[in-house]
Amino acid sequence: MPTPLISKRAPIYADVPDEKWNDWRWQLSHRLNSAEDIEKVIHLTESERKALQTQGLFRVDVTPYFISLIDPDDANDPVRKQIIPVAEELNAFTAMMEDSLAEDRHSPVPGLVHRYPDRVLMLVTTQCASYCRYCTRSRIVGDPGQTFNRQDFELQIDYLKRTPQVRDVLLSGGDPLVLAPKILEELLTRLREIPHIEIVRIGSRVPVFMPMRITQELCDMLAKFHPLWLNIHVNHPNEISLELAEACDRMSRAGIPLGNQSVLLAGVNDCVHMQRELVQKLTRIRVRPYYLYQCDLVEGSGHFRTPVAKGVEIIEGLRGHTSGYAVPQFIVDAPGGGGKIPVMPNYLLSMSDHKVIVRNYEGFVTTYEEPTEYKSHDPKTCKFCQNKRPEPGQTGLTGMLDGEQMFIKPEGFDELHNRHGIQHRLKDESKWKPLGIGSGETD
Ligand SMILES: *Cc1c(COP(=O)(O)O)cnc(C)c1O
Repeated sequence: MPTPLISKRAPIYADVPDEKWNDWRWQLSHRLNSAEDIEKVIHLTESERKALQTQGLFRVDVTPYFISLIDPDDANDPVRKQIIPVAEELNAFTAMMEDSLAEDRHSPVPGLVHRYPDRVLMLVTTQCASYCRYCTRSRIVGDPGQTFNRQDFELQIDYLKRTPQVRDVLLSGGDPLVLAPKILEELLTRLREIPHIEIVRIGSRVPVFMPMRITQELCDMLAKFHPLWLNIHVNHPNEISLELAEACDRMSRAGIPLGNQSVLLAGVNDCVHMQRELVQKLTRIRVRPYYLYQCDLVEGSGHFRTPVAKGVEIIEGLRGHTSGYAVPQFIVDAPGGGGKIPVMPNYLLSMSDHKVIVRNYEGFVTTYEEPTEYKSHDPKTCKFCQNKRPEPGQTGLTGMLDGEQMFIKPEGFDELHNRHGIQHRLKDESKWKPLGIGSGETD
């Protein structure tokens, strides 16, 4: 039997009338941010009290709804750890960076990160409904002084208009769903006026922190901008309340496909069995697990980091053991701006020119006999190959397979291997270019 979905309210809120409790404006204006406030709901540890009294800490703010999900007597509560700071946040670690994904370096204009060929990340606010302690964007998030203004927005729109390769815009921040409804609607309207933008996505933790914000009115507004996709952010089954389930139901009925992105966090969700429960509970509320991220190398998150192997172990425990729909992709977002890199267990064990040896989730090892007669796909007669969209300079290994280039060299490779030598009679450039006989690729 699946565990029933429940609704919780901390004892101090027992007398709040339902219409206030269920009003997102009330939730926002009654957020807790000081040791004094938070202590009324949960018994603080020394470490938490110390952190809450430290100046310059990454912003603390928690909605009454979300703090109510915490078991007040459990210092290790998985919801608690995500939003109540501890003194370990102040500890530095070797690889720590301010902007570990080098997002600001990949921003042609403020708040627009153009990392991949056909899609952009558009930061529209620095404000959230509550603040995750491991925030990857803590360098700007939470700080009202860093937020994006109208001029930034116009620059973002202008960049998108003149960049036709962008077909997918991912709104994030901060949290786009804390914007005033009129502003969000204007933003979506302006994006929809750009013909080459095919899909719009929103990344939001509002449904989790404040499900009452997902009103029918909001869903009706969002539904005007289809195709619109939305990813929520749930890390632990305890966050899947009756209210979240209802908010997701409203969004699904408005035609918005829902996904979930979680972050692998030590002491919160670094358990295979808990992850299985999480992903199954998500599919029950029609949310498809999308990504599970390795924790970024960001200031304040050292104590949340797990070895990458933990993520591989979790995928090992999910793939095959539960519905394919429930298995997220485990991602290491490469420090320095390399982007998302999927990491997973190996299923391909060996191969020859006519066989591959693969194993399944149970460790059953089998052979797959390759076809002896495969008539190669012919790019010359394939209309998709002929009309492929250009991805200037970003085709990577696909480009190599397509014959666009033969190698990718590390910086300084040619100089190093020249060994301060001389140009001599044996060094003829044409020697290491393919002759292209028979391939028709190099003519
Ligand atoms: C995550 C991310 C995207 C979207 O990546 P998908 O794999 O398509 O979900 C786009 N741009 C940036 C900068 C990102 O970090």
